Parts: sequence; structure tokens; C-alpha cells
Amino acid sequence: MSKEEEKKICQNCKKDFAIEPDDFGFYEKIGVPPPTFCPECRRQRRLAWRNDFIFYNRKCDLCKRDIISVYSPDNPQVIYCNKCWWSDKWDPKSYGQNFDFSRPFFKQFSEFRLKVPALSLFNDNTIGSENCEYTQDFAFGKNCYMCMVAWRIQDCMYVCYSADTKDTVDSMDILGTGEGLYESIFDEKCFGCRNVYYSSALINCSFCYDCSGCEFCFLCVNLRNKKYCIKNVQYTKEEYEKILAFYELETFGGSEKAKREFENFILTKPRKYAFFRNCVNCIGDKLTNSKNSKYVFNTRKAENSKYLENG
Ligand SMILES: [Zn+2]
Ligand SMILES: [Zn+2]
Repeated sequence: MSKEEEKKICQNCKKDFAIEPDDFGFYEKIGVPPPTFCPECRRQRRLAWRNDFIFYNRKCDLCKRDIISVYSPDNPQVIYCNKCWWSDKWDPKSYGQNFDFSRPFFKQFSEFRLKVPALSLFNDNTIGSENCEYTQDFAFGKNCYMCMVAWRIQDCMYVCYSADTKDTVDSMDILGTGEGLYESIFDEKCFGCRNVYYSSALINCSFCYDCSGCEFCFLCVNLRNKKYCIKNVQYTKEEYEKILAFYELETFGGSEKAKREFENFILTKPRKYAFFRNCVNCIGDKLTNSKNSKYVFNTRKAENSKYLENG
């Protein structure tokens, strides 16, 4: 195992990048050569394989019905609808082929891939999920529409990268039993909130950033275990309710006004350089319960990992 850091030039973007001693150990362990692309170009190459958010109309290549798919109609792959793909109507051995040792592996792998039927949408609708047709990378949900990379969520619309969430719209990275949320990001155990960001254990709060354990707070930043605060100032229950009613958050105008005030207020408060919950020796952002990991984003329980996202 090499102990020296090695500087390389990315074959794709021609910029410098480093392979650290630990990286060599990892590549040796899994039996692959060290990379020739920099981490960012490798990331782009990985993401080119993913389509979580664009749906197309096309036909199932087996039953010929009109279906929705993450594969466009001009994609040369064989695409089966959910019902056909999970059925016994096709024989996986029918497209089997022998390996030709005189030809390169990846060329053959690419040709083979085009023949293997792929699922039109990667979800378990009608199997583990109910009424969740328009979802991708999705399982064990109920009554969800346009939700991607989500598990065990119910009655949600336009929600992604979330789990164990109910009655939520226009939100992402909601974890650990979120319920009744609107326009919220990276929250844990929040209930009945709107426009709350990077927060945990909030109840009936709106327009809050990095708050925790708060109830009935509005336009607040960096608060812990508070109740009836507006712009980080303590009020009585009656005062709080009176001021909140004045904002008319249920109207578009009121909501936009609050949004503008929130954006200005947040600039007056210090912000964390990155969001870690229970993390040790990590570099990245939106990380939970992780240790010894670098350049890891939006991930839970990472350990001794690098260049990872949505893990
Ligand atoms: Zn590069
Ligand atoms: Zn079909």
C-alpha cells in the first residue's frame, strides 16, 4: 500500500487532484485501479446515470400500454411497466449471452445492458406502496404524488430525499417522523411547521432557521427550547397570537412579506459553517450520526467514507 499522497491531473477537466494514502488502501481493498478523473468529474459521471425528477410518456416494451417512465421514448433500453417487470411474463434467460473473451468487457456490458428489461419507474407502487404512481426511487408509501428518493411517506406531494413523513408538501430532507410541513428543508421530528430549515423538534413554527425544541416561534434563528418568540424576542401567548394574525400568513401577500423579513433577519445572525448532527471528524454538509468521513453530503450513518452523497 502506498503511503504517499499522489497528485494527478484529471483526464477530463485537466485540473489537479490528490489521491490520499487512505484512498490507495481503499482502491487496493476493492481491487480497482486509482481514478484518473478528479472527484468532481467522477461525481458528474455518476449523476449522468440518474434521473429522479423528469418523467416521460412512453410505451411498455412488453404489454405496449402507455406508461410513465424516467426513460425517454427514444432511449434504446428495453423498458417494462411496473406490472410487467414484476410478473412472470418474461424469461430472464431469453437475453442471456456468452462472454466473448476476444472483445472488450465494457463494450459487451453496454450491449447487454440495452437488452435487459429495466423498470419504467423505480418504485413499488401496487406492491409495497398504494396510489403512488408518480414517484421515483420510492417505497412503502401511500397517496403520494411527485415524490422522489423517499420511503415510508404518506399523503405527500413534491417531497424528496425524505423518510417517515406525512401530510407534507414542497419539502426535502425531512427525516424522523416529520408531519404537516410545507416548504421545509433538512428537518427532523418537526410537526405542523412551514418554511423551517435545518431545524429539529419544532411544533407549530414558521420561518425559522437552525432552531431546536421550539414551539410557536415565528421568524426566529438559532433558538433552543423557546416558545412564543418572534425575531428571537420573547412574547406572551396573547401578544404572539396578535402579531402572527397581523402577518396574515394564510394569504400570498402575507406569506411573501414574512419571507422577505425572514431573509433579511437571517443575515443579521451568525450561521453554522455546516450542518452536522452527532458527527465526529467529518467534512461535508447535512450529515447525521457519522464519523471519519470527508466530502460527504446529505447522508446518515457514514463511516470511513469519502465523496458520497444521499447515502
Ligand atoms: Zn476533473
Ligand atoms: Zn407492461
